[in-house]
Amino acid sequence: MNKILDLKYPYISNFFKAAIENNRLFHSLIFTGSNNLIQYALALEIARQLNCLEDKSENCNCLNCRWIRENKHPAIMTISKIDNKTDSSKTVISEEQINQVLDTLVISSDYHRVYIFCDAQIKQLSTNEEQKYNEFISTGYTPPTITDGDEKWFPSGINSDCFTAVAANSMLKSIEEPPNNVTFIFLTNNKDDLIQTIVSRSQVYHFADFSTISYNTSFLKNYFDNYPRFDKNKCLDFVQDLLSYQITNNLEPIYIIDSIQFYLGELAKLNTTNSLLLKKIFKDIKKLQTSKSMINSYIKEQTVYEDLAFYFAK
Ligand SMILES: [Zn+2]
Repeated sequence: MNKILDLKYPYISNFFKAAIENNRLFHSLIFTGSNNLIQYALALEIARQLNCLEDKSENCNCLNCRWIRENKHPAIMTISKIDNKTDSSKTVISEEQINQVLDTLVISSDYHRVYIFCDAQIKQLSTNEEQKYNEFISTGYTPPTITDGDEKWFPSGINSDCFTAVAANSMLKSIEEPPNNVTFIFLTNNKDDLIQTIVSRSQVYHFADFSTISYNTSFLKNYFDNYPRFDKNKCLDFVQDLLSYQITNNLEPIYIIDSIQFYLGELAKLNTTNSLLLKKIFKDIKKLQTSKSMINSYIKEQTVYEDLAFYFAK
């Protein structure tokens, strides 16, 4: 993957690299976190990995890699209230825009098409934003709009103000059953900024947050110390401990699953050369995504934790 992304987000970077190599990338992804610009860089990197005509290496100079780096690839579209517009609405991703996306899906393509949804503005950057912008440029990618002056293209998380429920709903069918070789990526601060029907059809990756939020994973130690081995006899204790930790600390079940994901992510960082273990971690993180989907579908957390315990002990 990309050196900057590898360095800053080794866990995420390895995760998506493995997903693409194993042809297991989910067709609809939601990135959550505060740094939407680095999410954007990752979205472009995923698009590049999916479309490279050669070895996917960072310096690959094939036509697709070049076009994606320059943000000129016809199959990689940024959809925001200011990008890829044909109508005059300035404050929302319009229904007309969505219809155009849907029209492009009808036509078959030789490319793996990637649609990146975000909010965006062209604006004067604060010092903090300037730093993020420079970090983005250092990944070798280009914003969809290049400006001359001080003002720069800057993305932010999509939300219901710029992506209304009506526009979002018109995409549901395509998100549920997309044509082959189509990936939707939504950049958000928080998955709750998207309508639930999109969230439930997507895989959510808390990504920028991993660099700033540290999860307390001490309650997992007893069970994961011998990872990937998991003691069958401890399944019920595991479920009870997760439940009591959640209740005592007044946490959301998603937080508990995220803590396990964080724990495995940290483990991946320590074992970047152990491809067998990484494969196992990758598989388990996939399973955690399923657990999250279960929770998002209002399945009782006890059932979800039990399912998870028996999965690990298998
Ligand atoms: Zn290439």
